[in-house]
Amino acid sequence: MTPQLYNDYGAWIRSKFPFRVQKISIDAGFACPNRDGHVGIGGCTFCDNRTFNPSYCQPSKSIAEQISEGKAFFARKYTGMKYLAYFQAYSNTYASVETLKRRYEEALSQEDVVGIIIGTRPDCAGSEVMDYLEQLNRQTFMIVEYGIESVSDKTLLRVNRGHDFECSRRAIEETHNRGIMTCGHIILGLPGESAEENIRQSEVVSNLKLDILKLHQLQIIKGTQLAEEYCREPFKL
Ligand code: SF4
Repeated sequence: MTPQLYNDYGAWIRSKFPFRVQKISIDAGFACPNRDGHVGIGGCTFCDNRTFNPSYCQPSKSIAEQISEGKAFFARKYTGMKYLAYFQAYSNTYASVETLKRRYEEALSQEDVVGIIIGTRPDCAGSEVMDYLEQLNRQTFMIVEYGIESVSDKTLLRVNRGHDFECSRRAIEETHNRGIMTCGHIILGLPGESAEENIRQSEVVSNLKLDILKLHQLQIIKGTQLAEEYCREPFKL
């Protein structure tokens, strides 16, 4: 049997808890600076948050309601399951510390919620936010996830990401140095990037201070700017 050359997430997360845990996605109503004009307008060309939000996950519902509906869905699968509140939609550190506190603490106060995962952009991790996250990390299981998407500034510009790779590297280092478990997301197959380019990037990614890496395959979602670009001028997939 070929030995596994990486620690898979499922086995790793099972080693962290004496019970099964399941992530429950939450749309806590945060915005995104790459959509509201603070950094850019229109967002990343590939972005359509609706594609990964489960149906129970609506900002019109309270965080408590979303967690309760998520729990009802997953409780059918295993008994004794516990949950990680996954702040997934948009940029979940893009607000004042008071707002972050209120929303995260609402999630963490729900029964059987044993930790929190916070997805965000690397340019939404200022020192005040990081001070709070460092403090919260001492109280609960926590992972901060950053969308890196690519290590190539040329690609980041082409997909209108609104920050460069250096921004990701700095945020990851800062988060890691504060003792917080840090995850990075990469998209394989972004326009202009070949398989060889992805292999080249892997060396750069391996040198980041990441605990967890998520590899996504590119998806071109109908209605996105990327879909329009692809129809106008198809790029190699
Ligand atoms: S992918 Fe994330 S950062 Fe980019 S526009 Fe969408 S919500 Fe904003």
